[in-house]
Amino acid sequence: MLAALRSGWVTMGPRVQQLEAAFRAMLGVPHALAVNSCTAAIHLALLGLGIGPGDEVITTPISFATSANVLVHVGAAPVFADVEPDTLNLDPRSVAERLTPRTRAIMPVHLYGHPCDMGALTALAERHGLQLIEDAAHAIEASWQGRRMGSASAAAAFSLYATKNITAGEGGVLVTSRPELAEAAEILRNHGLSRGAWKRYGAEGFRHWEILAPGYNYKLSDVLAAIGLAQLAKLEGFWAERRRLVGLYDAALADCAEIARPVVRPAVRPAYHLYSVRLRLEQVRWTRDQVLAAVQAERIGLGVHFRALHLHPYYRQRFGFAPGLCPVAEAASERLFSLPLYPGLTEADVADVAAALRKVLAVARSQAFPGGDPAASAPPA
Ligand SMILES: *Cc1c(COP(=O)(O)O)cnc(C)c1O
Repeated sequence: MLAALRSGWVTMGPRVQQLEAAFRAMLGVPHALAVNSCTAAIHLALLGLGIGPGDEVITTPISFATSANVLVHVGAAPVFADVEPDTLNLDPRSVAERLTPRTRAIMPVHLYGHPCDMGALTALAERHGLQLIEDAAHAIEASWQGRRMGSASAAAAFSLYATKNITAGEGGVLVTSRPELAEAAEILRNHGLSRGAWKRYGAEGFRHWEILAPGYNYKLSDVLAAIGLAQLAKLEGFWAERRRLVGLYDAALADCAEIARPVVRPAVRPAYHLYSVRLRLEQVRWTRDQVLAAVQAERIGLGVHFRALHLHPYYRQRFGFAPGLCPVAEAASERLFSLPLYPGLTEADVADVAAALRKVLAVARSQAFPGGDPAASAPPA
């Protein structure tokens, strides 16, 4: 990073190119473009594949805001399919039920780093002439039947955001095997100009640029690319560390009847991005949010990844989505929460988290929530 700063070339330049080359080599894909977020990468993929007004894209409700927001950005209609009960990944059978003549693409998310059923999804996409765009923000190290994410679809997007498996502070990478998509995305990430600054100030002498499309400023800076490269060198070490911690959590919670632990299907290599469990509401008298509040009071930080997208205010109002659309996702949405998982977490930390959770669950099993704040358990308005 200091070398990038000292070089004087701090915007997109040679370190961005190195980062892109590293992603191509790691994933075995012909094209990789570094951008300033995973959200930008997915936006560029949609634009580059010509998806826009009048088109429908099928995606999952158990995801980050990006999965729905980018569809609105390009003027396409989000169509939510339900998820599979074990992995909470997009369910190919539900996707098949929601196809219409306007469906143009399927946008699965490899949730928590566990690969989607890529066999069923690619078969559906091929049969119906649809684009498959993978949100691989959680899944940089993952593989499905030995194939890395992004190697069997139209495009895949990775994130270098602060909380992801590796980070540059902010950043993203779009990968594709389609030269025409790579070219369109390269132009659109740099304001729609005909040639990048790095090439413009090159040895061939003065050249005018031309605006080929009303593009965006989605460039990654070389300073951030240098951080990304340093993190990439640690990727497999971080992965092994998280995998070990997941094993410790699995053992510590194995006999905890109130908690459903994450599954790993055969023939996949998960990225172990998050350790997200589900509260068995039938076994306790408290809601998930009440359990979270009590565990947080034990000074353990928890997360919720994610509450169903279609029930957020904007999507209810704009598209009329209501409960009942995706029953499996909606049930999970009320039950799931994530335990701390990051390299540097110690065995003692895992034991503390498990002990705090067990302590809270023992009370939640036998007693009503103290005070019984109904607002704490209300679903999103
Ligand atoms: C974090 C995240 C994103 C967005 O990544 P950015 O790089 O912050 O844009 C997209 N999808 C999922 C599933 C994520 O978790």
